[in-house]
Amino acid sequence: MIIVPERAVAGLLTAADCFSAVEQVFAAMARKSAYNFPVIREAIGYADALYGFKSGFDRESLALGLKSGGFWPGNIAKGLTNHQSTVFLFEAESGRCRAVVGGNLLTALRTAAASAISIKHLARDDARVLGMIGAGHQSAFQLRAALGQRRFERVIGWNLHPEMLKRLEEVAREHGLPFEAVDLDRIGTEADVIITITSSFAPILKASHVKPGTHLACMGTDTKGKQEVEAELVARATVFTDEIAQSVSIGEAQHAVARGLVKAADIVEIGAVINGTHSGRVSAEQITLFDGTGVGLQDLAVASTAVDRAIETGIAIEIDF
Ligand code: NAD
Repeated sequence: MIIVPERAVAGLLTAADCFSAVEQVFAAMARKSAYNFPVIREAIGYADALYGFKSGFDRESLALGLKSGGFWPGNIAKGLTNHQSTVFLFEAESGRCRAVVGGNLLTALRTAAASAISIKHLARDDARVLGMIGAGHQSAFQLRAALGQRRFERVIGWNLHPEMLKRLEEVAREHGLPFEAVDLDRIGTEADVIITITSSFAPILKASHVKPGTHLACMGTDTKGKQEVEAELVARATVFTDEIAQSVSIGEAQHAVARGLVKAADIVEIGAVINGTHSGRVSAEQITLFDGTGVGLQDLAVASTAVDRAIETGIAIEIDF
């Protein structure tokens, strides 16, 4: 069995590796040759922790396994990350444990890859202004991955806690782009692509804010009750997602579906666009919205790539198990 420790992951994978691994597994999901198993998530009644598993199997790549992880709110005080994840991979032929991989950085990278994939396949080719809503840990990863997808000329951002926007300014500067903190009206009227990545439980962006032709990647809503954009905005958009079952239950579309504004049958798997079985954006005026809910197969895909790289580069720790 192989161990890839958390500290080794950054040196093994690039954002491009994660993009390609996640794009392939989204395509396999739409071909129905990869599927996610039901998610387990429990409040364990200790340390205020939420803990659970995301798992699945990809019959094309043979990635089989699970990500175990959760949220420990008291960790920051101990100098640890609040979100803790570990990926376990198993041999599809035998069920033996193949690898254990640190999953914290992998989670950030696979989530950023998902929104970047949606921009590649759904944003207008002439998108030049990128709008960010949210400036927490995940936002810098989202921004970096997005900037490679179009010839963006500037980045604008809004966050409930404006002092956190420095994080986005630094990433924009790394890429030689100007950054400006703006209000939500300006995000809506100026941005061609908007990424939302907050832990909000109430709509931030309204349908009236957003101009025709915008692509939205809604990435923060991954739990029942969370919400980043008004249900009317979801209803006005053509909605794409990683997995429809999650989109309607824990994703951004949950509220529009509950209010009868959108039906599950109206939501398109992004994998169908990647495979060419759905045309994706069909006009320059259409609003497209990617509801990125985060699936276990994304974790397995990037963890498998990390294991392959660790073996190739000789840094994999092998143990007799
Ligand atoms: P974080 O705690 O570092 O940042 C939280 C962000 O939300 C900050 O910008 C904060 O200012 C903002 N925020 C907090 N409360 C808010 C409120 N009431 N209204 C508006 N904004 C508010 O978190 P993070 O690691 O950056 O993650 C952001 C979100 O993305 C979380 O909801 C997380 O669960 C989700 N997430 C989704 C996926 C996925 O696959 N879709 C993966 C990882 C994280």
